[in-house]
Amino acid sequence: MIEPSIVKEIIPLNGSPLENALKQLEIAAEILKLNPEIHERLKYPERSLTVSIPVKMDNGQVKTFIGYRVQHNSARGPYKGGIRYHPDVTLEEVKALAMWMTWKCAVVDIPYGGAKGGVICNPKEMSLSEKERLTRRYTIAIAPIIGPYQDIPAPDVYTDAQTMAWIMDTYSQLKGYREPGVVTGKPVNCGGLLGREQSTGRGVALCVREATKVLGIKFKNATVAIQGYGNVGVYAALILKEMGAKIIAVSDSKGGIYSKSGIDPKAALSHKQKTGSVVGLAGCETISNEELLTIECDILIPAALENVITKSNASNIKAKAIVEGANGPTTTEADEILNANKVLVVPDILANAGGVTVSYFEWIQNLTRESWSEETVNKKLEEKIVNAFYQVYKWSQELKRPMRLAALALAVNRVAEAMKMFGFGS
Ligand code: NAD
Repeated sequence: MIEPSIVKEIIPLNGSPLENALKQLEIAAEILKLNPEIHERLKYPERSLTVSIPVKMDNGQVKTFIGYRVQHNSARGPYKGGIRYHPDVTLEEVKALAMWMTWKCAVVDIPYGGAKGGVICNPKEMSLSEKERLTRRYTIAIAPIIGPYQDIPAPDVYTDAQTMAWIMDTYSQLKGYREPGVVTGKPVNCGGLLGREQSTGRGVALCVREATKVLGIKFKNATVAIQGYGNVGVYAALILKEMGAKIIAVSDSKGGIYSKSGIDPKAALSHKQKTGSVVGLAGCETISNEELLTIECDILIPAALENVITKSNASNIKAKAIVEGANGPTTTEADEILNANKVLVVPDILANAGGVTVSYFEWIQNLTRESWSEETVNKKLEEKIVNAFYQVYKWSQELKRPMRLAALALAVNRVAEAMKMFGFGS
């Protein structure tokens, strides 16, 4: 049985990623009284592939890299998940990330299962042509298990639209025809999607708007503080301003800025582009990243790193809601404090799902050879995110649990229901 202390159960982010992922699954299983046979099956990936990748380096020597592709669950559709290039990639980590992708796709109700890939390498030390040869050889190695109806990779840490173009091209050469639907996150001129770049920030902005509604805060001029001014933070700021909210603080790795009367996100962006940081924007006070987190505001958006909201600052947070743009910005202890203080936390799995949602739109377009306008993409994204927000909110009310736990339970339940229909579980 679940302990009455709700938030302690939320996910102890202190084991290895796989231990955490398995613990989360266990918690959801307890809440849902999940069929043990289905629970058992969900602990393991359906398939995990390890490949060795020989690459001729620029100095003429051949170096062998190790790569993985893990497919966690396909009950709701083809596997979906990014590929990361990083020296610290491990099979265990990739397994955990693949499981999280299963839940993320299920929360926003897109017809995919979860997967993840990774190659142990240091892309910062590799030339562009070395990265191209690595990517093409890795694609050949995993080609038997990927495909538009099988498993659709996307960019992740240190991979990008260029990497996806190489994968698509290599896969297409193997097949003998052009197959854009094998990956998403491609450049727009080879099957990519208009609006992809803004999509995660847009999803965050939509969650902010809905959070103000459920909290009874007026959205017009609601005050917002954003930590991290990269892809997610910048677009969240631009879109929120356009929608009528007031951005009063933003930050990057070099520090933050604050203005009670509001910051123009475009001006902050061009200042960052010119000087390397938002710090120093005319008319703003300089603040530290730590100060930004505890500033008086309606909504706080962590959009930089993990584990920034901790037991040492959570009780000083004055925001009425936290919308998690970043992955894993809040520790378990902080979650407990925020819950006690009635701060609404919109969890990462929902708040930053805009990117994977529009990946799904890109894939539909590729399969149907259609091309949607950016307005259509944004409208469909809004529908998906807003629906998911209220489904999670409703589960949270009914279960009397925070939204983080409700999102997880909702996702696991959706996957389990599909598995039951296929006969996994007596
Ligand atoms: P990014 O690299 O574009 O931007 C990160 C920003 O964080 C930069 O402005 C950087 O200066 C800032 N930063 C770094 N260290 C900081 C510090 N100590 N304090 C304050 N700011 C700091 O990254 P991104 O794509 O915007 O991703 C941000 C987060 O969102 C990550 O957790 C990522 O996993 C998550 N996320 C991103 C996407 C996406 O589509 N980009 C999707 C889902 C989740």
